[in-house]
Amino acid sequence: MGLLRGLRDFADLKRHARWQKERLAAYQRNELSALVRFAVENSPLYRELYAGRDLDDFAALPSIDKQLMMERFDDLNTAGLPADDLMEFALAQERSGDFSGYFDGRWVVGLSSGTSGGRGLVLTDRQVTERLPSVFAARSGVPLSLLPWRIVFMLRVFSQGFADIASPLVSITYVPTMTDPTEVVRRAREQRANILTAPPSVLRLLAPYADQLPRVQLLVSYAEVLDDHVAAEIRAAFGVPLIQIYQASEGAIACTCAHGNLHINEDLVYVELLDADGAPVTEPGVPCSEMLVTNLYNRAQPLIRYRMGDVITLGEPCSCGSAFRTIGRIIGRRDDVLWVPCGDKLKPLFPDLACRWIIAASGEIAEYRVEQHSPDALSIALQLPEDADRAAIEADVCDAFRERLAELGLGPVEVSVSTLEPGAITVGAKPKRFVRHFSQP
Ligand SMILES: [Zn+2]
Repeated sequence: MGLLRGLRDFADLKRHARWQKERLAAYQRNELSALVRFAVENSPLYRELYAGRDLDDFAALPSIDKQLMMERFDDLNTAGLPADDLMEFALAQERSGDFSGYFDGRWVVGLSSGTSGGRGLVLTDRQVTERLPSVFAARSGVPLSLLPWRIVFMLRVFSQGFADIASPLVSITYVPTMTDPTEVVRRAREQRANILTAPPSVLRLLAPYADQLPRVQLLVSYAEVLDDHVAAEIRAAFGVPLIQIYQASEGAIACTCAHGNLHINEDLVYVELLDADGAPVTEPGVPCSEMLVTNLYNRAQPLIRYRMGDVITLGEPCSCGSAFRTIGRIIGRRDDVLWVPCGDKLKPLFPDLACRWIIAASGEIAEYRVEQHSPDALSIALQLPEDADRAAIEADVCDAFRERLAELGLGPVEVSVSTLEPGAITVGAKPKRFVRHFSQP
């Protein structure tokens, strides 16, 4: 990518974040209108979906989900590429561990590991991924004062798209999340890494090694919900700031500003939060029932009103002055929400809350899983060190649930606690900590 273009992109992104609300809304309207028309012209699937619709009434256009996206991938993408060929390419990369290279010399192919449903394909034009250094520089929340950025980047998989973030001032060393902590330390020291980026469960595993990484000045978390309690634990261990990026395979959703708040990247993705009746959620603190994302920059695989399956709340406006909406809480996946009795109804018990009750009960809980077979029974499995006082910790977790549920007027719910074998939830692969065995009411 040309340096000039990169600087221009960087300046544009910085400028957008300072726009007033009206300017931003006008920009979004134009982008959405252009995207919808592009999709109808170039994607057989959208042409079919939107037939007879008023293309200017965006909020009334049908939404799509991962299942439809994958079933009709050949018709959805605008490059005319068959899903089978792309999947074969991506799986071969994963098998070989070599994630570099483009499909047909032009396309970046990524796999999304689904915690719900099967694998998803992410197709991006390299012209787009090659502009990522600017997006990363402008929107990662990493301060320019740390330049040059020497990043140890941990994720289950890598792709050429991540490699494309590297530039003269940014070096990226990919380390798979399954790597032993001592090896991570060795790689980080070898690269003289000043930034360590990894899912929170991996940062937590690395916390005991923090003093061996004195050069690390910033931690970046993504790919899993970052609970406040876990964030505090990680910050205390490393003694450096920890920021969050909300990046999904569907797009760069949000990043942390200088004031420490998570802002939606309103010029890159258009996020609609809807309540159970399909009305927009605009009030801070109210969990959405549906989160629809429209990616404004990926024309190869247009995602328009895509149902993310995440549950989030908005936050208060930020004192940094950006008109981009803030996110209050990332609660988790819709599939992870537990449903418990409240009088003669069922009410949602959000996974971030249940997570906090568990990890606040004891600092020794290494991993956990909550399973719900019916609304009135929760089984919690805990992974503890061998020398832990298991009986006492199990009792504390049970008590925490009984007390907190009672405070919220929820229940009765029978809570049982058992042992979670190491490896039952593989840290590194996306951990599935909540399993509900009945469908959402
Ligand atoms: Zn802010």
